[in-house]
Amino acid sequence: MQQGYSPQQGNVTVVVPPEFGEKPVQVTCGNCRQTVITTTTAENGACAYIACIIVLIFCCPCFFIPLCIDSCKDIQHTCPGCGARLGTYKRV
Ligand SMILES: [Zn+2]
Repeated sequence: MQQGYSPQQGNVTVVVPPEFGEKPVQVTCGNCRQTVITTTTAENGACAYIACIIVLIFCCPCFFIPLCIDSCKDIQHTCPGCGARLGTYKRV
């Protein structure tokens, strides 16, 4: 009896969802079906508001500062072709 080889996987394409981070990533847009490099924009997310509340408690006049700091913001990834939102990188 010959030991058979383990069956080949063939042309199985594993689709890995893109990891959205702080930097633009290459993804296939679900809206226009183009492979694009996402456009990133910083938006105030939960992290910015939580930091805002913390600062508000300890240092009232500066409560708005976290809303102005990009490192506290979520990163919104949009398609440069059609403008569809492709994903969000959340810090919280
Ligand atoms: Zn698109």
